[in-house]
Parts: sequence; structure tokens; C-alpha cells
Amino acid sequence: MSLFENTLKQIEKASKLMNLDQEIKEVLSHPQRKIQVSVPVRMDNGSLRIFNGFRVQHNNYLGPYKGGIRYHEQVDIEEVKALSAWMTLKCAVLGLPLGGGKGGIIVNPKILSENELERLTRKYTELISPVIGPETDVPAPDVNTNPQIMEWIADEYSKIAEKETPGVVTGKPLKKGGSKGRDTATAQGGYYILSEFVRENNLNPKDFKVVIQGFGNAGSVAAKLLVKDGYRLIGVFDSQGGLFYEQGINPDELLKCKAEKKTVKKCGVHIEKIHDIKGAVCREVTSEEFLEQKCDVLILAALENQITSENAERIQANVVLELANGPVTPEADEILAKKGVTVIPDILANAGGVTVSYFEMLQNKSGEYWPLEQVNEQLEQKMVVAWQEVKLNSEKYNCTLREAAFITALIHLEIKIREKGEF
Ligand code: GLU
Repeated sequence: MSLFENTLKQIEKASKLMNLDQEIKEVLSHPQRKIQVSVPVRMDNGSLRIFNGFRVQHNNYLGPYKGGIRYHEQVDIEEVKALSAWMTLKCAVLGLPLGGGKGGIIVNPKILSENELERLTRKYTELISPVIGPETDVPAPDVNTNPQIMEWIADEYSKIAEKETPGVVTGKPLKKGGSKGRDTATAQGGYYILSEFVRENNLNPKDFKVVIQGFGNAGSVAAKLLVKDGYRLIGVFDSQGGLFYEQGINPDELLKCKAEKKTVKKCGVHIEKIHDIKGAVCREVTSEEFLEQKCDVLILAALENQITSENAERIQANVVLELANGPVTPEADEILAKKGVTVIPDILANAGGVTVSYFEMLQNKSGEYWPLEQVNEQLEQKMVVAWQEVKLNSEKYNCTLREAAFITALIHLEIKIREKGEF
């Protein structure tokens, strides 16, 4: 089953629950535009390689297409279609005046030199330049892309447009018109949602054992924010492997060690030494075992399709927080719901990234620079409002938070479409 088929299932389910107009559902089940590009790149050794890239513009009823660009070997058009549709829904849940889009290139950027990566990015930008722009489609970072790559895109686009156009992307470096807090926004947004959940249920963070899959930008920042509030980080897993330490891991120490050893798996000895608790040992675990460990919150901050019909039954977390896009399949959702596991869905939980991207667009337009406190204050406000709306809909429609988040998004989209009068 392709990732986009999963998205369609989710839309179908929510549409049924809320009795959405069939035509609106149909229109939202098809991306408005799909672009495929072949990107020739001269490699450092003189050879030529052609990379395949995509930009999918799912929907722009609420505003310009918005969404990241992903560099990954497993990217394909169906994945980009799914990710673009989730962007439309995510922006709608947050009430942002933005549509949904997504891009990707099939490449492992980790084996490219800096120069090769720059040439790839600039050529890809040239090829998609007719369809992007500050008022039409605004890319941003996603898996394996970063502020440096955004700077190259903005620079290349500006050359083509013969005009300085930093607003063509968000997630830029600060000195190039980026926003404070954009780099930490995905985790920060998820943190605000989880904090609300904990507060409303009269729970104490100190009783919460946290396990995190993915220790990159989203996962490591979430770890730091939560540990600062007293949560206990007991397990961390990255793409190479993971470890458990029931006494609680110091995320700063783990980050330091990971920077040196490249993977958390090799940091067991370091963690044991730092914490120095008699009898306490770091356990190494396989990727299968990792997700199935007992914990209070399981944070999925890696890639899609991590909890499936295959392992859902064995999940022992009480809450799953999706900082990645699409880490739980629709089949797994049903199993988790039956088991009483609360899934806080991606289109709400990880919307902090695009929300601060929107703040960056506002700052670029007005020429203002917001201090970090202002960014985080406004982010918290938007995340909490969205959370409350989703929760109300989950009560009203007696459904899961994912279904309620989809319903919330579809309500916003339906209102806008009706205002317009036609598709
Ligand atoms: N790539 C991020 C996401 O999946 C952010 C997109 C953006 O800032 O436009 O939500």
C-alpha cells in the first residue's frame, strides 16, 4: 500500500464521520499539480549523474502552497503526494492562510560533497522555478534539508527572477531572513501540545517515561524540552540503533556523544559514566524491540510507517506523539485505538514547523525581526487553539484525535471552498 493510499483512507474516514460533501472530498483526494524533474549534476570526479526530483502542489484554497523539500533515497512520487496532502490539512488545522505542497529528490545527501549538494540544489531550483515563488509556492526544510540548502534555493531563484527574493523559501539562515526559533519549532510545537495534554489530565511530568525514535532536529530538541520539565527520557533510537537507560538519560550528554560517535548506540558507556548510578546499565536494543518497550510517551520523530498492523498490538506506550509525518498507518491506528493508546497525530503534533515558517513569511513581508520569546509565545497560542479545536471535535464526533484533526482541517477547507463558490 502506498503512503498516499494511507492518506486517502484517512480523508475517507473523517469525511464519513462528518458527512463531508462528496465533491469536496474528491477534490481534496487529488493533488492539483505534480511536477517531476530530472536533475543533471556534474559530480566532483567529472562524471554526470541524473537525479529524479518532484514537487507536488496539493491544494491552494487557503493560500500559497507550502511545504518542505526532502532529500532521501526512498523518496517517490506517492510519498510526496501524501506529504503534500498532509501539509494542506496541517495548515488548515492550525488556521494558517497557507495551502499544501511538498518536494523531494531521490538522493542520499550524506554521500555527496558540499559542492555536489549545492549544484544539485541549484539545478533542482531552476527546474521547479516556474512554479514556486513567495506568493505561489514556498518550500522549506524537511528530512535531510537545512537552512544552507534553503539559502542556495533563495539565491538561485533570485538570480532567475532577477530580483532579491528571500521570501521564496522559509527555514533560511538567520542572517538571510530566517526566523528565530524556526530550527526548533517542530519539537517546540509538539512540546506545547503534550504539555496541554498532561496538564488537562492532571498528570505529573515527573511520572512520565519518554522514549524517542529519531534523534535529529525534532527528536533531540523534544528530548531537551521534556527533560527540562522533569520528564524521564529512558530510551533513544536513531537510524543506526538505540539504547535504554531506565534511570533517565541526559539529552545534552547524549547529543555531545552522538556528535562524536555518530550514533546513540555507541554512547552506552558514556551515559553510564556520566550518570554513574550503581548497578544501572545501558541496554542496547534492536529496532523491532525498541518501539515495543514499556513507556508513557513514545515520540516518533523519524520517518513514516513505523507502527503498522505488524507491531501495533505489541506497543506498550500510553501516548504516541507523532513529530514525524505519517509514522502510524491507518491499520495500526485502529489497533492502537482499541488498545486505548492515545495517538496525537502528525498534522497537529508536528505543525510547529510550518507555523513558524508562516511567522517567517510575516517577518519577511514586514521587514520585522521577532525576538525568540515572541515567536514561541505566538506558536504556543496557535498550537493550543488548534489542540482545543481538535479535542472538541473528537468529543463531538466521538472519534480519535487523528480523525478529529482531519475533521477540523476539512471543516476549515469546506468553509473556504463554499466562500469561493466553486473549485
Ligand atoms: N517540513 C515541515 C513539515 O513537514 C515544515 C514545512 C514548512 O515549514 O513549510 O511540516
